[in-house]
Amino acid sequence: MNNNTLRIAIQKSGRLSEDSLKLIKECGIRFDNGAGKLKTDATNFPAEILFLRDDDIPGYVEDGVAHLGIVGENVSEESSRNVDTVHKLGFSKCRLSIGVLREHDYTGVQDLEGKSIATTYPRLLGQYLKANNVSAQIHEISGSVEIAPSIGLADAVCDIVSSGSTLLSNGLKEVETIFRSEAVMIASKQLSEVQQNLLDQLLFRIKSVQVAKNNKYILLNCPTEAVENIIKYLPGMRSPTVLPLATEGWCSLHSVINENEFWENIEKIRQAGAEGILVIPIEKMIL
Ligand code: ATP
Ligand code: MG
Repeated sequence: MNNNTLRIAIQKSGRLSEDSLKLIKECGIRFDNGAGKLKTDATNFPAEILFLRDDDIPGYVEDGVAHLGIVGENVSEESSRNVDTVHKLGFSKCRLSIGVLREHDYTGVQDLEGKSIATTYPRLLGQYLKANNVSAQIHEISGSVEIAPSIGLADAVCDIVSSGSTLLSNGLKEVETIFRSEAVMIASKQLSEVQQNLLDQLLFRIKSVQVAKNNKYILLNCPTEAVENIIKYLPGMRSPTVLPLATEGWCSLHSVINENEFWENIEKIRQAGAEGILVIPIEKMIL
């Protein structure tokens, strides 16, 4: 281990693991992740990957034992470690919410006054209650939070929610969202110049992968006289490519289109005379 290598900490097994590994691979970084390994070297980039419990990642990054980490923003914020959040990664989106028993006639945050709330996020919950001038008792537990109200341990819970089905199946309803989270890349504040440079390279690759995911390569055939009308909907990166077809009076038009714009404009493009439309995923996109 030296100052010329980046040590990247990711979750060993859990909801972040698969997407974290996928992202690193999509950035073209190759490594052998044999089952049960806790540490592995990248073979084509000066990096080393550490596989850890997600709760430990912010601390390792603060101490500079790892230089980068991929964690939920919820875990990073709760830890209050002194790290830089360098990029949002767009996966593991969830929210930290307060839930109460379904039969509770909840009218607003002031209803929590004097109540007890079970959570694994005492810091984020404490901040929220303080900001809302509510004083409630925070009951910190390390797991199975949702069961607390039904066994009489607490009046309410504050926990991670994505679809809300876990709350529902425990007889709870979601009443307040206190924090929105997604996976983020955090970085140590003690990077060497070489490491900062490697981080910049990595971020460049991550952004290229993210932009590519939101865009598609589109090819279509149309009568030459329709080109002007169709390109209004296909601005492309600079402007679309137009190639003549072997059939007189027809051409092939190639462009890049944002996925949402594609669905919004596809009917107009067809009405303007386009046919044989192909939409192809883009692997990387350098802007
Ligand atoms: P570890 O064993 O590493 O401590 P964990 O049990 O604490 O894992 P996971 O349940 O794997 O953590 O969740 C990791 C992160 O994934 C959470 O901190 C949160 O950011 C996000 N997350 C949790 N639940 C969901 C969900 N239902 N949908 C999407 N993302 C989620
Ligand atoms: Mg954890």
